[in-house]
Amino acid sequence: MTLSNTAPILIVEDEPKLAALLAEYLRVAGMPCRILSDGRDVVPAVRATQPRLVLLDLMLPGMDGLEVCRAVREFSEVPVVMLTARAAETDRLLGLELGADDYICKPFSPREVVARVKAILRRVRGASTASTTFGPQGTASLANAAPPRALVIDAMRHHARLDGHELPLTPVELRLLATLASHPDKTFPRAHLLDRMYDDHRVVADRTVDSHIKNLRRKLQAIRPDEEIVRSIYGVGYRLELRTDRPGMGAARHGVAGIDNPAGAMPE
Ligand code: CA
Repeated sequence: MTLSNTAPILIVEDEPKLAALLAEYLRVAGMPCRILSDGRDVVPAVRATQPRLVLLDLMLPGMDGLEVCRAVREFSEVPVVMLTARAAETDRLLGLELGADDYICKPFSPREVVARVKAILRRVRGASTASTTFGPQGTASLANAAPPRALVIDAMRHHARLDGHELPLTPVELRLLATLASHPDKTFPRAHLLDRMYDDHRVVADRTVDSHIKNLRRKLQAIRPDEEIVRSIYGVGYRLELRTDRPGMGAARHGVAGIDNPAGAMPE
């Protein structure tokens, strides 16, 4: 797979100002862009221009982002980053086996988008050129082909698998894991996790998170007894640390919440 530096980033966004702002930041970072505002134009454009990456808004005229992503995946492995207006949607998105590579919640800073795009392109390049290692501790080895996804979360069908083993999770635990897995490089404060755990924002104590985390850990450790996959960061919160260099992991490329780079999404 060759990734030409001149292939554009395809921005699919129907808010013209936002699209122009993203394009400007990406261009400054050395990535030319093409902007589309109608979902129906995406498939022909991907076929015609073979973009390096697609930034895809969820709510679009013509054809929504979910449909577009599904349609693109039928013929292309181009990295797709979904843009979504509501943080609450990300859990739902995580459950859809669309083949999107990442999600960014609005409002976002254009800088964040550029950093995320760069990280994904590095990951893709690393996967295609073999033995690229990056990340703060150099732990995320992307040798040979793209690594199989150790963790697959399907929130719609309500199941999650670790190394091919079913995880018997409660709805809250599943949501907790999906949130942690959405940004494996990030430490989530308890308050943030609480927001994601409950739709109705009922008032629950911070310690509720701890007890759910405890149960989640127990279930993860039943599969990987020697690892602490959910790390507690003292005084801050929790983060997901999933080793991907283990042998014998079942391939599950389609899992949108597959974690293949826990340590180094954004070195800069
Ligand atoms: Ca929109």
